[in-house]
Amino acid sequence: MSFRGKFKWYKSVQKGGKKAISFTLTCKNMFKRETFDCAIMDSSGQQPSQIRRRIKLKPKESFVFNYDTCGWDWCIGDFFAIIDSNNDNILERWDVDVKVYGRGECPECHGSHRCSKCNGTGIMNNPYTHTMSQCPVCSGTGLCQTCYVPVRYGSTMYNEIYSNGSIPNPNLNKQYRIEALQRRISELQKMIERAEWNERMMQLRRIDRSMGTTFIHILNQRSQYEQQLIELQHQLDELMDMKI
Ligand SMILES: [Zn+2]
Ligand SMILES: [Zn+2]
Repeated sequence: MSFRGKFKWYKSVQKGGKKAISFTLTCKNMFKRETFDCAIMDSSGQQPSQIRRRIKLKPKESFVFNYDTCGWDWCIGDFFAIIDSNNDNILERWDVDVKVYGRGECPECHGSHRCSKCNGTGIMNNPYTHTMSQCPVCSGTGLCQTCYVPVRYGSTMYNEIYSNGSIPNPNLNKQYRIEALQRRISELQKMIERAEWNERMMQLRRIDRSMGTTFIHILNQRSQYEQQLIELQHQLDELMDMKI
C-alpha cells in the first residue's frame, strides 16, 4: 500500500469559519487503486474511534477527513491509521503534527492565549454605530489564533498548554456584559420615570414663563435617556443573540 497523509489547518464551514484541522490521504500509486480499512483514533481515549471499511482510492486520488466531511474534530494526540482488515492491527499511522507553541512562546499573545483583536472577549464593539459583533479574527472564541491548537479538555496536552489558568472565557465575559447592560438599563428606566414625574409636577404647578428653560431642559434630558435606553436595549438584544 502506498499512501501520503497530510494534516493542515482549514476553516470549518460547519463550525462557522472556526480554525480546525483537516487530514488528506492520497493514493500515491500511478496505476493501481487501493482498497483499505482505516481508523481515526484519539490517543487520550475520550472519543470512540471512527472506523471505515473498504474505502477505495483510485491512483493519485485523495480523501479528506475533517469535521465537515466526516464529523471528526481533530485534536492534538489524535491519529489516522490504515488498519488490517482481518485483525484491526495498525499498518501505518499519521499523528496530528500541527505546530504547538511552548509556554509563552507565541509571538502574538506571549502565552496569554487572548485574541489580540478583541482582548479575549470574543466580542467587538463599534463605538460609532453602538453595535456589537462577534470578533472576526477568533470567531468569538476569544483565543489567540496564532497559537491555537485544538486539544481535548483534561488531556496531558491541555494541561501543558493551558495550565496557567488564563484561558479566555468569552461566555463568562458575555454574561458579565449582559449583566452590566441590564443594570444600566434599569438605572435609565428609573431616571426616565423621575424625569416624567418632574414633568407632571411642573405641568400641575402651571409653571410661569421664567421656569420655561428648566422645563425644556427636563424634556431634553428625558429624550436623551430614552435614546440611550433604545441603544442599550439594542446592544442587549444583539449580545443575547450572539452565538459564542
Ligand atoms: Zn498566541
Ligand atoms: Zn477575537
